[in-house]
Amino acid sequence: MTETIPARSEVAPELTWNAPSVFPSDDAWDEEFKRITDSLPDVKKFQGHLGDSPAAWADAMQVFDDLVSRVLKVFVYAGMAHHVDTTDQAATAMVSQAQGLYARSMAAIAFLDPELLAIGEETLRRWIKDEPRLAIYDHYVSNLFRKQAHVRSAEVEELLGMLADPFSGPGGTAGMLTNADFKFEPAVSADGSEVPVTQGTILRILTGADREARRMAWEHYTDTYLAFKNTLANNLASSIKQNVFNMRARRHRSTLEASLFENNIPVEVFHNLISTFRSNLPTWHRYWAIRRKALGVDTLHPYDIWAPLTGEKSHIPYQQAVDWICAGMAPLGDEYVSVARKGCLDDRWVDVYPNQGKTAGAFSWGSPDTYPFIVMSYNDDVLGLSTLAHELGHSMHSYLTWQNQPMVYSNYSLFVAEVASNFNQAMVRAHLLETIADPALQISVIEEAMSNFHRYFFVMPTLARFELDVHERVERGEGLTADSLIELMADLFGEGFGDQVHVDRARVGITWATFGHLYADFYVYQYATGLSGAHALSRRILSGEAGAVDDYLRFLKAGGSFYPLDALKMAGVDLTTPQAVEETFSVLSGMVDRLEKLLA
Ligand SMILES: [Zn+2]
Repeated sequence: MTETIPARSEVAPELTWNAPSVFPSDDAWDEEFKRITDSLPDVKKFQGHLGDSPAAWADAMQVFDDLVSRVLKVFVYAGMAHHVDTTDQAATAMVSQAQGLYARSMAAIAFLDPELLAIGEETLRRWIKDEPRLAIYDHYVSNLFRKQAHVRSAEVEELLGMLADPFSGPGGTAGMLTNADFKFEPAVSADGSEVPVTQGTILRILTGADREARRMAWEHYTDTYLAFKNTLANNLASSIKQNVFNMRARRHRSTLEASLFENNIPVEVFHNLISTFRSNLPTWHRYWAIRRKALGVDTLHPYDIWAPLTGEKSHIPYQQAVDWICAGMAPLGDEYVSVARKGCLDDRWVDVYPNQGKTAGAFSWGSPDTYPFIVMSYNDDVLGLSTLAHELGHSMHSYLTWQNQPMVYSNYSLFVAEVASNFNQAMVRAHLLETIADPALQISVIEEAMSNFHRYFFVMPTLARFELDVHERVERGEGLTADSLIELMADLFGEGFGDQVHVDRARVGITWATFGHLYADFYVYQYATGLSGAHALSRRILSGEAGAVDDYLRFLKAGGSFYPLDALKMAGVDLTTPQAVEETFSVLSGMVDRLEKLLA
């Protein structure tokens, strides 16, 4: 399949996502673009008048919501053309046009929050009671005034706003250096041919069977980062200092608290994850030992972690993947399953197969007026199946949110999003492991699960520990150097590897530099909490707990109408306690047991 990637024009329309369902033609898109542009002055008319009466505020909200939903639809259509062929210049131009329109529209309604804050919470609350059209804004107003506690004077806010652009420097620099400027020495494969090492090929080499190629690729990859360790360390330190500055400017007690404040998450959620992760590290140590035995190597090295455990490759056509996913999701009921199936097969939510110029990776997106689309490069294997299950989890979450929530709550945070997506993967894996007889396929399913757990339930929590430590050092006024960052990271991975994986301290210790995620502070832990919430909720449903399905569906329908932790409590999981993380480790431990038996 990789040798003969078709051009976009050669892909059968039934395997592409349904762009004509958004706009029938580019001309129709153009017309809507012009109509929205012309309507922007009408929106401005509400400025200074939200406080006139409850009806005036309600009228304005209706106009704003309508504007936002139309702009998003224009944005989605442009992006759809761009993502499936990033070399399409006309599509790139449409995206930049849509971005401009989005920015102008947001600027036109930017007076909303400051004006509401000026009217005051008491008045707004009274109006919400008096005017039925305003009832939905209860949570919106609560959140607005909750955040107000850390909003500074107008002058300070203006200054902080002006800093946002220059402060994006370090993240951009790291990306430019490691993606655009880095050149890696090639590896050599078993047959003596040269294997180019790039950001785009490294994972493919590391998941390959050729150990010597893996070793060289990993060493050359990490050595390039090490050659720039001082620049990279200073750059990361600048970003952390900015976080500390922002935390102090907004008068939070710590960077962790400041970062979690946005979604109203108490810091215990983070600390619970880390301490439960640490106490369960022996499960990971057990897995490394089994992996070492299965690969038949004396010493397991970091470049052996992604290596395949069997030579057999699964073959799962798209239709089969959809059938298995639907079977796995059956406990959620006919309605959920039939919408998902129709989305995958008839309504064309999914842009299925790779083609030249298509965007890498997979994601789910859309707007309340479109289908919840998915773009991916399906490859007829277990990874493709699991990726589809994950993205379909996001899409069904969006679908149910958009069906049930007003515009203002049509968005939800990553904190809850990664629960819905991982939930589907957990359900589908459980179904396959229960029903599939073929041991090779069982191993493939567990291998895929373990590689997912490795990234999100081993690497991400380890990075989160690193992040906490380095932020605390800067908060205490200590300096950060390349070597101190490398030592810390090597210690943390050393603890996670136990005595089971060889720790090449410099090459393992530079891992922090290979994750651009660290430029968004305290972001990565959410993957691990999402995975935990997902497993706790899937267990509840799989064990047949009364009301569990209804609770979960209510959560999917809630969108952004609750704070993330409250929405999850409604679904049946409380992430302020360690229970969900513990349960996820017991799922992981069960997988390791099973893998051990299958490989014996
Ligand atoms: Zn996701």
